[in-house]
Order: sequence, then structure tokens, then C-alpha cells
Amino acid sequence: MTRNSKGSLVRPFSLPDSASRPVVTPLSPSVVYASDTPDALDDQYEGRVHGYTYSREGHPNADVVSQRLDAMEGGQGGVLTGSGMSAVSAVLLGLLKSGDHVIGGNQLYGRSLRMMKEDLPRLGIATSLADPCDIAAVAAAIRPETRLVLIEVVSNPTLRVADLDGIAALCRDKGILLAVDNTFTTPKAIRPFDHGADIVIHSVTKLLSGHSDVMLGYVVARDPEITARLRVFSVTAGLTPSPFDCWLAERGMLTFDLRFDRAQATAAALADHLAGLAGVKRVIYPLRPDHPDHARAQALLNERGCNMVSFELEGGRAAANAFTRGAEGLCFAPTLGDIGTTLSHPASSSHRALTEAERAALGLSEGFFRVSVGLEEPEALKSIFSEAVAAALAAS
Ligand code: PLP
Repeated sequence: MTRNSKGSLVRPFSLPDSASRPVVTPLSPSVVYASDTPDALDDQYEGRVHGYTYSREGHPNADVVSQRLDAMEGGQGGVLTGSGMSAVSAVLLGLLKSGDHVIGGNQLYGRSLRMMKEDLPRLGIATSLADPCDIAAVAAAIRPETRLVLIEVVSNPTLRVADLDGIAALCRDKGILLAVDNTFTTPKAIRPFDHGADIVIHSVTKLLSGHSDVMLGYVVARDPEITARLRVFSVTAGLTPSPFDCWLAERGMLTFDLRFDRAQATAAALADHLAGLAGVKRVIYPLRPDHPDHARAQALLNERGCNMVSFELEGGRAAANAFTRGAEGLCFAPTLGDIGTTLSHPASSSHRALTEAERAALGLSEGFFRVSVGLEEPEALKSIFSEAVAAALAAS
């Protein structure tokens, strides 16, 4: 409690004076902000001055992060949300209405797929899924009432590369919004606005924050009016994030460039290493010449690829168990973009709800793994994989 001329008050009037300023963005956990007068509040609400009122509507830590992301994606006034899925939800629930139709890539992130299959139809919004690598399939799915197409540039976990330029041209021609979830690829590999996307989405939880200690999302539209609608919906629906999560995300993002370059270069080297190991049936990495979308990956991803590598072991579940047991020091955990390398096994996690036949159609056998490459020393990582694959081979 602070003492002042009015005696003992609950709240101090101001922060201590300082001629110097902090180097690190201060954490501002205040939920509410006080104004001088109702006129001052009018000025704020009517946009004549900038200020904060209530943290669900905005706070300094969110603005610091969204400005950084705006600069990376070439957007303006982007909206931060409490998770990647709340950014996806803001787009699908904040822009569409009953009677509309939306097309999703058929290999979207699992929860995005679930929203397309379960939640939107419940609200009277029709949905179709189409292969974003096949422009004819996307064109065939378009209806007169199609309002939006949602794709990811590189699919999870099969790492196929979408025909982004083709889909953008199609959407432009038909007056349909194109939303791109750029989580996997990041603005270091591709900026979807440069390829004609209307909306860019991120799970900032992943590579951008990078330390598996914060959940955050981001969405921005090319058209400021659409961004404003996304902001209003996010505030109304309570999708906006806490100051602490934004503060942590900013700290992680300061090293994003360095982390991405290191992880991507190691991923490319690891992909080649895996391809030479006995016991590995196939390796999927977009910049390898044997990738089915190699030419498109080179054109779209600025020769940067990504930090994700998928591969298939010979042998079934026994080989998979031996592999994760043998991969000493690597986390077998359903995430990506962490500073440490993580292993994901779609058959027992992200794709476990699919039938075996559905998994087989996607090429997801019991031996299939997705690797999110982290910052380990590349030679040490290669040797861990050599030993784990050898253990898998012995068990198969
Ligand atoms: N989009 C993609 C491509 C993802 O991989 C994920 C999560 O893995 C999400 C969205 C959802 O993000 P979050 O977990 O931050 O809600």
C-alpha cells in the first residue's frame, strides 16, 4: 500500500521515475487500465489516441509480439490469440456464416480437420476437403457458396507441398478468401501474402516461440477490414492471450532466425543421413530430389525447406518401440518446433483415430515417424539416429 497526500490508498498513482529505460520489454499483467476522464476514454475508444482499457481487448505485451509478426509476414495490425487453434477458430467462426461453404486441405492439422468435419457443419457451414497439391481437386470442390479455402503449405506428417500459387490464382478468380496456416513453414521459408494469400495464420506455440513453454496464435488479413473483424471476434469470444504468454513468446522470438537456420540445415543433413541407413525404407524431406513435390518446394520455399523430416522404418510396432527406446535423449512427444528434437509417431498419436486402411492410404504405417529437428549438434544427432535405427532393425 502506498502513502501519499491523500493518506493510504490501495493503488499507487504512478511508477517510480527513471531517466533510463528497461532493455527488456516489461511484463504488464494489469487486466485493467485507468483513464483520466470520460473524455480521455472517448479519445481512446474513437482512435484519436492509443491506449489500453481491458486486457482481453489488448495489452502492451500482445502488441509487441504482433508488431514483430506483422513485420515478418508483411501484414498490418495482426491479432494475437491464446493458441494456434484459436487463430484458426477466429478465421472459421469469425468470418463464415450459416449457408457458406469452406474448403480445407485434406491433410490439415488434426484439430483444424476436426473443426471442418464436426463443428462447422453443426453451425450450418458446409465443408469439403481437397488435396491442396492437386489444383483440379480444389477447383472441383468449389461451389457457388464457397467463401474460404484453408490450407497449410507443407502437410503434416507427409510433408507434401501445396500448389499455393495455383490455389491463390483460383481463389482470386472466384472471389474466394485464401487462408494459409504458415506454422510449419514459418515466414523464414515463405510469406503467403507474397503468393496471393488473403489471410495468414500461425501457431506461435511452435517454431516462432520455440521453447515449448507458451501457447499462442496469430492471424492477420491482407484487407484491414477483415483483420478488424477477426480482432472484434477474438475479443468477443475471449480468444485473446495473457500478457505472460506474449512476454515469453517475445523472448523466444528474439532467437527465431538463428534457431530456424540451424534446425533447417540440420534437418537437411539428417534427411540425407537417414536415407543412407539400413532399416530406413524411405525419407521425406521437401528439398530432397526424390521428394514428389521437389520442384515446387524449391520454388516456394526459397530453397529453405523446413525443420521437419519424416521417414519410414522397416518393420512394424516392435521396430517403432525399439526406435523410440533407442533414441536416447530425444523426446517422443506430439509437438514440433521445440529447441530439442522431438519424435512423433502418427499411428499411435495424431492419426490414431483413423482406420488402418485410412492410414495406409496416407502412407502412415507403424514404421512412420515425423521428426521435428532441434538445435542439437548435427553429428551427435546423426549418431543417435544411427543407433536408434539399428535397434529398430534388430527388433523388426
Ligand atoms: N496449425 C498447425 C499446422 C499445427 O501443427 C498446430 C499444432 O500442432 C496448430 C495449428 C494448433 O496450434 P496450437 O497447438 O498452438 O493450438
